[in-house]
Amino acid sequence: MSSSRAMKEKNIIKFTDSVWDYTPSETSSHISFIKLDKYLIMVDTGMDPSLTKKVREFAESETGLKVNYVIITHYHGDHTFGTKVFKDCDIISTRSTKKILEQKIEGDYKDKEIILPNITFDGQYEIKDEFKTVKIIETHGHTQGSAFVHVPEENVILTGDLLFSDMFPFAGDETVNPYLWVDAFQKMIDLNPNIVIPGHGHIGSVKNLQNGQKLISEMIEIVENLFKEGLTKDEVLKYENLPEFTKSANQRWLKMTIDAFYNVVEEKHNLLKEI
Ligand SMILES: [Zn+2]
Repeated sequence: MSSSRAMKEKNIIKFTDSVWDYTPSETSSHISFIKLDKYLIMVDTGMDPSLTKKVREFAESETGLKVNYVIITHYHGDHTFGTKVFKDCDIISTRSTKKILEQKIEGDYKDKEIILPNITFDGQYEIKDEFKTVKIIETHGHTQGSAFVHVPEENVILTGDLLFSDMFPFAGDETVNPYLWVDAFQKMIDLNPNIVIPGHGHIGSVKNLQNGQKLISEMIEIVENLFKEGLTKDEVLKYENLPEFTKSANQRWLKMTIDAFYNVVEEKHNLLKEI
């Protein structure tokens, strides 16, 4: 098929025996697929269903299998709006992700046709055949319910938006938990993957996970210190002496990050006070 061939030349890259990845541009969300002996598994579905449909067609013609499972790493639209082209598949997410999606389709995502997950889990879920395993591990962090995917036999991790590689992340979600996000990075680093496919940005390695963890830790430290000095959220948002690495960030995302992290730091402080 000519459209598949065009895609192949363009942006779909095979990284290991089982893992392919596609991203339409440097910063847009990744769509990946994993081939086991018997199963074809998509990881995240992108934002534009017509494009996702082409990736699906490519995946099926390339592997000779039909997509069985679709893993959703978290609820954000650029990972879930493409679910509409997988009505005939099992869609898997954490229970938290499904719960948030159920609320979103009554609100912000009202005009989108999102297919809700029919398989949900807490903690960890596995798809296995004779030779290989695909593990989905819930960590929270970037959002409540965020999870990453691990293919141990090939030492590949697909991070969802737990990693924005070589760029300042979107960390301003209302359900963000930066402390759990740092822990999520540690879990991924401890697995010592050879290949790390991020939610956004370049394909990387453990080094990218370490950089991502450092960035979130530093943002926590900045907000915690200013909070301890007694600054209000508005004052922190207007604070001008932020470290150099924040200068190159998307400034709207940076503000949203500070806003959301401040809420979490304040809540933690209030909880500790009550004890
Ligand atoms: Zn996201």
